[in-house]
Amino acid sequence: MVTYITESAKETQALGRRLATELRPGDVLLLTGDLGAGKTQLVKGIASVLGITEAITSPTFNLMLEYRGGDGELLRHFDLYRLESPEQLEDIDYFGLLEAGDAVSVVEWGDKFPEALPVCYRLVRFSILTQDMREIVVEDIGKPGESDG
Ligand code: ADP
Ligand code: MG
Repeated sequence: MVTYITESAKETQALGRRLATELRPGDVLLLTGDLGAGKTQLVKGIASVLGITEAITSPTFNLMLEYRGGDGELLRHFDLYRLESPEQLEDIDYFGLLEAGDAVSVVEWGDKFPEALPVCYRLVRFSILTQDMREIVVEDIGKPGESDG
C-alpha cells in the first residue's frame, strides 16, 4: 500500500502517468472517492502515457468509453456512478471486457457494488483533504503471490 499526496490537478495527472508505466493490457484499476476527488484527472495522466490524444471526460452517461493510443494501446474507461444495479453490468459485458486482456481498464466508482468487484485489481482510493489537496492510496487487491514478498 502506497500513499500519495497531490496538491493540484496537474500533480494528480503526473501520478497517473507514473502509475501508467506499470500498467499492462489486462490490468484493472479501480478508482474510488467522492465526486470531484480527482479520479478523472488521474485517468488523463494514464491516457497520455498510452499515447491517447483525445480529451478524457467521465463516461458517466455511456458507462464506458474506449480510447486507442498511437501504437494501438487500448484504454477502457468505465464510470459506474450512474449504474443502478449490478445486473446492468452484464448489458455492457463488464467482466468480459475486464478479462479480455486487450486493454488497460480503469473504473471510476468501481466499488459501487461490492458483489461486482473484479478478482484482481489495483485499488486507488481518493480522499479530498482541502480544496486542492488529495490523498491517494494505491493498493493491490487479490494479486496471486502478493504475500510471497
Ligand atoms: P472525479 O472524476 O473524481 O469526480 P475530477 O477529476 O473530474 O473528479 O475533478 C477533480 C476536480 O478537482 C477538478 O476540477 C480539479 O481541477 C480539481 N482539483 C483540485 N485539486 C486537485 C488535485 N490535487 N487532484 C485532482 N484534482 C484536483
Ligand atoms: Mg470522474
